[in-house]
Amino acid sequence: MFIHQIPSFVPRIFPKLHWQGKHSQDEPHVYFTFDDGPCPEITNFVLDELNKYQAKASFFCIGKNMAEFPELTQQIIQAGHGIGNHTMHHANAWKMDQVSYLKEIDDCQQVISSFGIQSIGFRPPYGRFGKSFYRNNATNLKTYMWSILTGDYNTSLNPNHIIVSCKKALKPGAILVFHDSVKAFPLLKMILPALLQECIQKGLKPISL
Ligand SMILES: [Zn+2]
Repeated sequence: MFIHQIPSFVPRIFPKLHWQGKHSQDEPHVYFTFDDGPCPEITNFVLDELNKYQAKASFFCIGKNMAEFPELTQQIIQAGHGIGNHTMHHANAWKMDQVSYLKEIDDCQQVISSFGIQSIGFRPPYGRFGKSFYRNNATNLKTYMWSILTGDYNTSLNPNHIIVSCKKALKPGAILVFHDSVKAFPLLKMILPALLQECIQKGLKPISL
């Protein structure tokens, strides 16, 4: 069984990471985040859907993809969404030394800066990080995890099951993870409109981190 909602003990183990976004009763915000883009057509679909619901979101982009698709990256920025760091090549922290990992982050940061914007923060690919990263870098980089993993990349999941589970977990401050990638698109295109609609119905406003 796929667990969509992060169990509450996990954030307590890693308190330096952000597992929720800012929210209050007066401002019941939620946070849609999209990892691994930008990706032509798929990112465009996401931008169109967000626009339909006047929703703002956060895109944790791969540096290489931003460099390859600068116009698409500009479209994300011009639509008022935030851009965050997801390393230069989707680096796996468990398979490389710390120096190389930090270079991956730094290279991506430079691509973001080249668009004249500031990164909203960092999301480690695969949600993986090492001890040294957690101790020395997690806070400075403003590291965002999530509270709801949609699992859109898992092609064996049923879209209706995802929608039902994620709707249950939707509450103010929730950070949802999606992927604007080719692999995730079959599920993404079904679950994203449904979850945006649910937010509108619940009075939850999707904004950028
Ligand atoms: Zn990723």
